[in-house]
Amino acid sequence: MNGGGTLYRAGFVIGHDGDTHRIIADGAVLVRGNRVDYVGPARDFSGASDETVHLPNHMIMPGLVNLHCHTTGAPLSRSLLEDSGNPAFFMSGLYDYGRFRKTDSEETREVIRYSLAELLKSGATTIVEVGGSDYVDVYRESGIRTYLAPSYRSAAWDTPDGKKLEYVWDEEAGLAGLERAVDFVSAHPSGEDLIGSMLAPAQVDTCTPELLRESRRAADELGCRLHIHTSQSHTEVGVMIQRHGGSSLEFLEGLGILGPDVILAHTILTADHPDSNIPWCRDGQILETSGASIAHCPWVFGRRGTVMHSLGQYVRRGVNVGIGTDTFPQNMLAEMRWAAILSKTADNNPLSATAGTAFDAATVGGARALGREDLGRLSEGARADMVFVDCLSFDMVPVRDPIRNLVYGGSKSSVDKVMVDGKMLVDGGRVLLWDEDRLAVRVQEIAEKMWDGASARDPLGRSPDDLSPPTYPFGWTEDAGGDEA
Ligand SMILES: [Zn+2]
Repeated sequence: MNGGGTLYRAGFVIGHDGDTHRIIADGAVLVRGNRVDYVGPARDFSGASDETVHLPNHMIMPGLVNLHCHTTGAPLSRSLLEDSGNPAFFMSGLYDYGRFRKTDSEETREVIRYSLAELLKSGATTIVEVGGSDYVDVYRESGIRTYLAPSYRSAAWDTPDGKKLEYVWDEEAGLAGLERAVDFVSAHPSGEDLIGSMLAPAQVDTCTPELLRESRRAADELGCRLHIHTSQSHTEVGVMIQRHGGSSLEFLEGLGILGPDVILAHTILTADHPDSNIPWCRDGQILETSGASIAHCPWVFGRRGTVMHSLGQYVRRGVNVGIGTDTFPQNMLAEMRWAAILSKTADNNPLSATAGTAFDAATVGGARALGREDLGRLSEGARADMVFVDCLSFDMVPVRDPIRNLVYGGSKSSVDKVMVDGKMLVDGGRVLLWDEDRLAVRVQEIAEKMWDGASARDPLGRSPDDLSPPTYPFGWTEDAGGDEA
């Protein structure tokens, strides 16, 4: 080895020229260590490399940035939260479905491994994980670039009767949570290491003004990002209007919390949303001027019939938007597709958002939210976080515009290899570190145990079938066929 690195030569390379992604046919990427050292047409490469890998049927693109996920529990909501919801909370699953999830720490580790495998296989190379800070070792073991956001709040949600939302306040606990989070962020500074961190006062409606101001002050001192869930449910919109006389974003702006280092998760039910019924609030103007980024997770809202109004309009107004998976499936390719399609649907306009709008959000948008010019793009000096897509896979042919094909039709089966920080973590569509089949079996076992114990944890004794009736009745009887009376 002379340190010349590996030259990947591919049918398409998605390079970045400082302004925009560009599609380079017969392109090349030189990886030296954990950095990209050359991007451009293969014919223009005149340097030396230790080896050359020829991938004439592949597209090499930047790794995707998942700006918002909960990998400790997300898979366990699958089969439960779709086609269901509590009418008392406008069908949101936020307030009384969470108590079904219960895992011990060994189980949580397995769920995280499963989640990270699922994300890597969909092309995610960087994630913002909200809540998993007790499991740093698992994220580090995985090799995926992780921003851990330990979450804390002044109040917990509770709904003993399943009808009314109660806030159980414990302001001291919120401040103690901030203190622990500050220690965590101090110990895991963002930058060179694969593990970074940020502060995450949990939700706009569960934090006191004092906790939010203290969080802002701590973030300034630490030089870290601030992450908060906001404008995410009709219940929250109503509570914030009653409590503070304005929208969630007006509340945050009034506290002096917002700025370019803030990531607002969701930001769906803003004044711009026709169903929020707060058209007099200044949300649009606040988003335009504050510089805060939005972590847009279209699928989790779309499945409840709620869409952002709209991704295309936010982007055209200059708001920085990234993409997150939030719940399940943890699939960045699907999330990009929903982002584009639901924006078109919201605006009744096929050009409201394009494949490029979604791909930008999932790459440079997420990177900008993290303050990282070296992520979400392939250019000289960027981190070697790359996804290798097989353009001859069934989902990708015929290929003229590979980004369009990937966003509108690509699936995990098109993703052949994924590299993070110069290290190959997925090859042949399989994660290299863990046994995927074993993880799938474990997640099934963990979920079955959790469902069995669920009604004992619900104050009303409801079972998963009560809260989430199955698509068709389970079981079969002789007269189920309904022949004769
Ligand atoms: Zn979330």
